[in-house]
Amino acid sequence: MNLVLLLPEDWTGPGRVRLEGRRWRHVCEVLGTALGEDLSVGCLDGPIGWGRVSRRGEGFLELDVEASQPPPAKHPVQLVLALPRPKVLNRVLASATSLGIEAIHLVNAWKVEKSYWKSPRLAPENLLQQRLLGLEQARDTILPTLHLHRLFRPFAEEVLPGLVQGRTALAAHPGAPDACPRDLGGPALLAVGPEGGWIDAELDSLQVAGVRTVDLGPRILRVETAVAALMGRLF
Ligand code: SAH
Repeated sequence: MNLVLLLPEDWTGPGRVRLEGRRWRHVCEVLGTALGEDLSVGCLDGPIGWGRVSRRGEGFLELDVEASQPPPAKHPVQLVLALPRPKVLNRVLASATSLGIEAIHLVNAWKVEKSYWKSPRLAPENLLQQRLLGLEQARDTILPTLHLHRLFRPFAEEVLPGLVQGRTALAAHPGAPDACPRDLGGPALLAVGPEGGWIDAELDSLQVAGVRTVDLGPRILRVETAVAALMGRLF
């Protein structure tokens, strides 16, 4: 946690918050911040700044907050991600958030196991929690939007063409003839497949929607590593 994220319910008065639970424990046990010392804080959906520990009690602490700086700018990236297995989902949501991606689309694919869609990790509280962890990691305050598309074909035919508008749209696929470009900088849509990869019919649908397949080199990367490699290469 490189920034303590402050939620609307934390405020007890102007410029003052009270923290309990996970964040209290982290500040006391990991950061070891003493009375009178400053912590990096950010208001969810708002500015970042500093919080000075004004009171430390059993199970809670209070901070005097001054936050007026903007959070780091997001990258103009829509990430289309074949729904990963539940354990990987948590990691990839947090890491895509910390990389500054503005929107995440979880989509079905042929090689996504049906049971993944029934995982408790798809509960809204968990999807939010993993993104909050990613924000705290990256000292950001703005949540990436998250969209679930349980059917691939309607997504590819009805939603994707709109998302691709005005963006460089790339689907990572090992062995694609074109290498992934570098230093794109501008708006992008990035599609990353399931552990078993995209099947040909999906690659065809992606292509029809205007998404070009690209290769990231001879090493097959894990889904979360592929997302990080794409972002590092393009931004
Ligand atoms: N067995 C699959 C690999 C899946 S890896 C196959 O051979 O296609 C999971 C996803 O990560 C892939 O669908 C792709 O989107 C991305 N990925 C991993 N390594 C990659 C590479 N070297 N080049 C391009 N994409 C890659």
